[in-house]
Amino acid sequence: MDSEEFRQFAGASIEFIINYLENIRERPVLTSVEPGYLHKVLPTETPQKPDKWQDILKDMENIILPGIVHWQSPQFSAYFPAGQSYASIVGELLSAGLAVIGFNWITSPACTELEVAMMNWLGKLLDLPEEFLNSSEGPGGGIIQGSASEASLVGMLAAKQRTVRRIKETDPTMDEAVIKGKLVAYASNQSNSSVEKTGLLGSVPVRLLGVDKNCSLRGETLLQAVQEDIKKGFIPCYLVATFGTTGTCAFDNIEELAEVCQKYNIWLHIDAAYAGAALVCPEYRHLMKGIDKSDSFNFNLHKWLLVNFDCSAMWVKNSNYLVDTFNVDRIYLEHHHNQHSQNSMAPDYRHWQIPLGRRFRALKLWTTLRLYGVEGLQNSIRKDIRLAELFASYVRSDERFEVIPEPSMALVCFRLKGDDEFTKQLLNKIVERKKLYMVPATYESFYIIRYVVCSRLTTEKDIEFAWNEIQSQANEILQSPSQISSNTFVQKTSNMDINTKESFKISNNYHPNNITEKSQ
Ligand SMILES: *Cc1c(COP(=O)(O)O)cnc(C)c1O
Repeated sequence: MDSEEFRQFAGASIEFIINYLENIRERPVLTSVEPGYLHKVLPTETPQKPDKWQDILKDMENIILPGIVHWQSPQFSAYFPAGQSYASIVGELLSAGLAVIGFNWITSPACTELEVAMMNWLGKLLDLPEEFLNSSEGPGGGIIQGSASEASLVGMLAAKQRTVRRIKETDPTMDEAVIKGKLVAYASNQSNSSVEKTGLLGSVPVRLLGVDKNCSLRGETLLQAVQEDIKKGFIPCYLVATFGTTGTCAFDNIEELAEVCQKYNIWLHIDAAYAGAALVCPEYRHLMKGIDKSDSFNFNLHKWLLVNFDCSAMWVKNSNYLVDTFNVDRIYLEHHHNQHSQNSMAPDYRHWQIPLGRRFRALKLWTTLRLYGVEGLQNSIRKDIRLAELFASYVRSDERFEVIPEPSMALVCFRLKGDDEFTKQLLNKIVERKKLYMVPATYESFYIIRYVVCSRLTTEKDIEFAWNEIQSQANEILQSPSQISSNTFVQKTSNMDINTKESFKISNNYHPNNITEKSQ
């Protein structure tokens, strides 16, 4: 493929993307293909002679799109958003064009320095504590990781390093292997599944602790667990506090947890994968009280801040622990700025992450932050939250439904009153019809459906569409149509007793520590 063909192929591909996104509502959000569908239509070998690019674009339409779940569709309301914007797509393209591998400063100074600058822009934008920012003096700083999972693993490995060092300082005879065998970590039972995986990968057991009725992990609960573990001879070393859980977008009490962590030298990592993006709006910053006492903080721009996967921003208060953990120098990796690189504005990011190689991801962050500006980013978050409120108001207007718990950010959880079975049936029917995609979670032992405003394209009309779809399927299940805003719901029209003392009794009988499932 020469430059002229690239011009044509790339141009046509951009047209393809625009056309796809502009007409995305016309496609059912979920696919109808069976496992192995692609295997049946793809050639089994690489073509002997080069194919034509025009044929690739045809195949995109004919065989790839049928197997795509349309994450950018306004009818995609499952999990959390998959960030995307035109600004970010172009950043990705430019990065692919340069194709540098910027593992240290010398391999492309711009790759490192733009990342340093972007992490500072972003840190200030979120009003993070000064100590987290990259500066020429302090050991704090930010880095783009591939995912929140990676960030919590990096945090854990640094926490292990710090704990081992601390204990060896007080007792130099202690064997490192013995210390490592006693380490334990903590998170709430609402934390993302990736936290458990972090424990497996980092070889530190993670205790999943109970939460209060707001699904929030509290200081007292952590304190008890820590004290019990110490009594048994374990060494507490790491806590992942969740700022916006995956199930219900609940917030752990960072202030209380930070106090316990400080007292017991536990590394506090804040996983704000989804909800961290809301901190671009000052009205949500009260939720991060105590963050100044944390050791690391992470959120995914590739969720709710319009940047394509992968772009997970992580800040640490003391990057020396990362460098200590990951530094494995070799002759071919040395350069003459090495000695300054730890604490300067030009860090060797290879010491801050798991892989050696790294992409120029700061470019898509740069294009997005510049082309949206603070106001554009704030508007985007506020719009999604406003649309979620609209959705919640629809659900509340129908007495057969309840919204529980209270909506949080752009997530609204709801259920049909009465037995969980109705809600399960409802979700199954909706997913089978493929017009709207949502996933379940559990709250106070209730089965709930999560509705998330995910797509940046979502409008009020789309919210109405989603609600109509939900209501029409509920009508079929309950055989008792109800109109929005009507108070004429009659209990006895349904053979299911869904609005009686019985369901009232159930909904008051909550079990604070009884949430078992995670939705992702
Ligand atoms: C989505 C999510 C994760 C996982 O994010 P990845 O970037 O896919 O690793 C972790 N924690 C929370 C709270 C999440 O919502």
